Amino acid sequence: MSVREILVWPHPRLEAVCTPVEAVTDDIRTLAADMLDTMYAAPGRGLAAPQIGELLRMFVMDTTWKDGDRSPVVCINPDILDRSEERGSADEGCLSIPGVTATVVRPSSVRMVWTDLDGLVHDAWLTGFAALCVQHELDHLDGIVTLDRVDDAQRAAILAAYEGQP
Ligand code: ZN
Repeated sequence: MSVREILVWPHPRLEAVCTPVEAVTDDIRTLAADMLDTMYAAPGRGLAAPQIGELLRMFVMDTTWKDGDRSPVVCINPDILDRSEERGSADEGCLSIPGVTATVVRPSSVRMVWTDLDGLVHDAWLTGFAALCVQHELDHLDGIVTLDRVDDAQRAAILAAYEGQP
């Protein structure tokens, strides 16, 4: 288990569409452990595989650990099947876009299906912060970051303040 380097935007691997995980192997379990170690060390509440350069459809999250005990979740091959009409917005940070946040509007609830490290398939409606978090992380698997989810004016303002901008 190890803490890996987090790629910073703009990095080409953050713009790639990731490929599905074919099977939950020891390599995948090791990658998940590395992703969790990296997320907790950052510190963050979600991390997608491409953020450490692995172009696979998986992410990890723990939406509550900063308030108490750790409850790590590993989502393999996640897919959103349904979205609420109700929308919510949040100031989203991203470990790959350090130092700035983006106010992103997303569906407030989503129905997501995913596979866990035991190979079990889950199908659940997520709400609140978890719903926004999984949408943010799933975007990473399609090469989409928060800057792609805001209008031109907000994007320009964020880029002007962004320390990672070349
Ligand atoms: Zn992110």
